[in-house]
Amino acid sequence: MRDANCIFCKIAAGEIPSKTIYEDVDFRVILDLGPATKGHALILPKEHYEDFFALPEEAAKGAVSVAKKIAPKMMANLHADGMNLVQNNGETAGQTVKHFHLHLIPRYKDDGQHILWNPGEVSQEELELIKDQIIG
Ligand code: 5GP
Ligand code: ZN
Repeated sequence: MRDANCIFCKIAAGEIPSKTIYEDVDFRVILDLGPATKGHALILPKEHYEDFFALPEEAAKGAVSVAKKIAPKMMANLHADGMNLVQNNGETAGQTVKHFHLHLIPRYKDDGQHILWNPGEVSQEELELIKDQIIG
């Protein structure tokens, strides 16, 4: 299903032009218009799923499969030194477009980006409680 008001549905369908670096029947991979680094790309399913949690398992596998195809090519052809695969869910986590997308962010030595987090501190007791909370 598509969402008539969703910009990524329109881009994925080719109704809004984009710089497409890969396309198949289920996915389109486009260059981000506000790139973190040179070559920053987004894997978009052509179907509308709001986020990771709404994504069916088959589509999740498909997105990873597309990443496995395109990411090595980006690394090689852009001469990148590394790559972050980033996927945001919910406004608190930085999601601004409510259509699932997987970011492929090539990294270059001294590119000035800060995509990693500041490590916190936790005790073994707290880890045990958190583990139990997640497992339920
Ligand atoms: P989010 O913050 O939701 O994880 O990522 C949304 C991404 O989509 C941002 O990196 C933003 O630059 C990108 N973006 C938003 N609108 C457009 C657009 O119309 N075209 C393209 N190519 N990228 C977009
Ligand atoms: Zn959509």
